[in-house]
Parts: sequence; C-alpha cells; structure tokens
Amino acid sequence: MSEPLCDSLWRASAPQGPTLTPLIGELEVDIAIVGGGFTGLSAALHLASLGVSVAVIEAQEIGFGGSGRNVGLANAGLWLEPDKLDKAIGATAGKKLYDTLASAPDYVYQLIDKYQIQCEATRNGTLHAGVGKLGLKQLQRRYEQMSRRGAPVQLLGSVEAQQRIGSTKFNSALFDPRAGTIQPLAYARGLAHAALQEGAKLFDHSSVQKMEPTSKGWKLFSEQGHIHAGKVILATNAYCEYAAKQQDQKFIPIHYSQLASKPLSEAQLASILPNKEGVWDTCTVMSSFRLDQQGRFIFGGMGGKSGALENWASQRVSDLFPTLSKVEWDYYWTGTIACSEDHIPHCQELQPGLYSVAGYSGRGIGPGTMVGAELAQWLTGNIESLSIPTTLLRDVPFREVKRMFYEIGAHAYHLGQQSHALD
Ligand SMILES: Cc1cc2nc3c(=O)[nH]c(=O)nc-3n(C[C@H](O)[C@H](O)[C@H](O)COP(=O)(O)OP(=O)(O)OC[C@H]3O[C@@H](n4cnc5c(N)ncnc54)[C@H](O)[C@@H]3O)c2cc1C
Repeated sequence: MSEPLCDSLWRASAPQGPTLTPLIGELEVDIAIVGGGFTGLSAALHLASLGVSVAVIEAQEIGFGGSGRNVGLANAGLWLEPDKLDKAIGATAGKKLYDTLASAPDYVYQLIDKYQIQCEATRNGTLHAGVGKLGLKQLQRRYEQMSRRGAPVQLLGSVEAQQRIGSTKFNSALFDPRAGTIQPLAYARGLAHAALQEGAKLFDHSSVQKMEPTSKGWKLFSEQGHIHAGKVILATNAYCEYAAKQQDQKFIPIHYSQLASKPLSEAQLASILPNKEGVWDTCTVMSSFRLDQQGRFIFGGMGGKSGALENWASQRVSDLFPTLSKVEWDYYWTGTIACSEDHIPHCQELQPGLYSVAGYSGRGIGPGTMVGAELAQWLTGNIESLSIPTTLLRDVPFREVKRMFYEIGAHAYHLGQQSHALD
C-alpha cells in the first residue's frame, strides 16, 4: 500500500470533495476509468460532456495518487527539453505534443474558471531557478529552444532572479508567465465535482482487482461490485494497485517529499517570493518551493520521507532564506513519480479496448488534464490521434536497480549537503 495522504498540507486545506460511495452491485457503462486523479477525472469530465456514459473507480479517495500530493506547479510543456522531445519522437510528433502542452496552463485555468474550482489558483508564472554554471547553461539552452518555438519565456539575470525569489543563492531564472500554481488536491476534487455535474459516475474506496475481456468489451471486478464497459482506461500512473499492477514495470518510481511551514510573517512574505511564483531549481537532485494562500512556505526535495531529508530541507531553506533559519514544519508528506524511460507520457492499448496512460515523469497537471480531454475526443472518434505517443512501453530493464539509484542518490546527496553545511 502506498504512503498515506493524511500528512499532507493539501489534504488539510482542500475544500471537501464530493461525497461518493463504493461501487456496489452491477453497472454498465460505455467507458470505465480506473483511477481518480487528473487523467481519469479529466477523461471522465470530457467524456460525460460528450454524452458518453462513463464511470471512474478509485481505490482510495479522489486525488490519492500523485494528483493530491504534488507541488502544484501548473507548467507548460514537459520536463524534457523541446529539442530532446523532437529527437525522441520525431520533429512532427514533437511539435504536435509541444504545441498541445504549451497551451496546457491556459486550458487548466479555463477549466478552473468554467467549473468555479476553488483551488488557490494563482497565475503569476513559475521560475526555473539557476544554480551554478551548469544551471545557467541549462536555462540558456531551454530559453533558446522555447523562444524558438514562440514561448513568451524570459531569462532573468542574477539581480532580478534574486529579487523575485528573495534569495541570493541563484544566478538566473527562466520565467514562464503562462504557468502558475494551484492547490493540487483541491483541483482534483474540483474536477470530480465537475465530472459529476456533467453526468459521470464516480466511486471511491473500490479497487479494481480483476479485469476480464467479454464479448462486448470488459468486465471489471471490485470488492463489492462489477462494471461492464465497452472500453477501459487505466489512469493509475505511479499508483498501480491490483489489476493495474502489471503497469508498474513500465516506469521507474521516484519519491519526492514536501514539507510545509507555519504561515510566514508579513515581513518574511514581503521578501520571499513577493509575486508568489512557484519555483524549482536546476540541481540534479532537484528541489522546489512555493507559498500557499495562507502564506505557508512549501519546500520539496527528491527522495522518500526520512529524518535526513527533513534535516537537509531545514538546512537548505535556512541557507537560501536566512529569515527562515528557525523554520518549523507543520506538514511532511511524500508522493511517487512515474518516470518513463524517455520522460514522455505514453498511452498504450494493452489489449483491444484496454488503454493505459502513464509516465508523466513529474509533469502531470497540464499534461494529465490535456491527455484526459484528448482521450475523450479520441475514443469517441472525434480526433484521429493523441498528442502523446501510443507506442507500447517495454518493461524497464533493471528497474529496481534504477529505483535504488535515485533513492540512494538523493539520500546520499542530502547527507553530503548537510555535512558540507556543517563544515
Ligand atoms: C510529489 C510529486 C510532485 C509533483 N509535482 C508536480 C508539479 O508541480 N506539477 C506537475 O505538473 N506535476 C507534478 N507531479 C506529477 C503529477 O502529480 C502526476 O503526473 C499526476 O498527478 C498523475 O495523475 P494521474 O491521474 O495520471 O495519476 P494519479 O493522480 O497518481 O492517480 C492514480 C489513481 O489510481 C488509483 N488506483 C490505482 N490502482 C487502482 C485500482 N486497481 N483500482 C482503482 N483505483 C486505482 C490510485 O489510488 C490513484 O488515486 C508531481 C508528482 C508527485 C508525486
């Protein structure tokens, strides 16, 4: 079983989701969706608004997976540098995917507006913060590639980056005004309300334990019920349980943990992220930080929840922001990222009528929402193809070794940085 969601700030501060019940008895729908995160909920919302009968079956609660645990940076595009995307899937497919995801923040904020989703939506841009010479080079590369594709990004020099962030430790920042921050669990819960409003059926605390092909499609079995569906979407990403478990092997699970402070003072808020952008840095063992609406400072770093990570986070935060030298953490939680080998999400048709979407590689708010919307159009024959690749993924070779590499690497980095800071 995955890590609990109960220690998260997002769970403590999100408005209530809809009251749902487990799946009991028998149901027939056109399309069944396994997993109540951004992908599954967006697909359900869009399918239902096209008049398709659709049901979402969630094993735990809405937003239990990556959708309810993430940093909340609603960014454009993918992690992958645009030229690398073209290299991985070809220039034509790369352009199509890039263009689709360039508009993802617009689409997310339009949905928030349309369905009046209360999710602390703030659209003041995000800052990719440069650390060291390599960090600056990376940002220059990204700036050049994104500008060439028409993105309105700005490469900030050290003075402006430091002023915008409120820390002297960064030499540059790539500002993307298209992006923003959201309260991710609140967004997931809001999508669930919207999907219900459009006529989708949603069930929680019901894990799909088994799936069988039938003459008309598929039969899905949960603890207390079953669903007959023409088609099935597995939208379980890194949180594959039971029937979705076979998908685990297609990506490397990477843990990422976050801590949220008590609300900062007025004086601290005047200097730390005064424009409320969300930030992540260029370090190989990445960290992120942002504020929420209550003025809490939220800091994240790669790796599972551990004492070493917490100590490192406190040390790093006080190094970046001396006024936070005595930071007290109220919340501390972990999530799992599904990193595909090519860092691109894939939709696979595993068997006729059985689709799986996975591998967001840490960028799933915009992409998950867009992929859900596209799936609805594609499965109803309104568009010929998706923007993401529909090739089958192989099982990741040496997956466990790679998982350990990231986990131990992050742990060693945090310990090393701490002892360095103590020297
Ligand atoms: C810590 C962290 C930080 C991140 N930060 C960002 C960010 O700032 N910006 C960004 O764009 N992206 C970010 N991401 C990525 C983003 O959160 C994910 O890509 C996205 O949430 C994936 O959504 P999803 O709907 O595909 O899957 P999920 O939200 O993971 O949902 C999958 C659901 O499937 C359910 N499930 C699994 N098996 C079964 C079963 N057998 N039966 C029924 N239900 C089942 C699970 O319970 C789960 O709720 C982050 C991810 C993590 C983990």
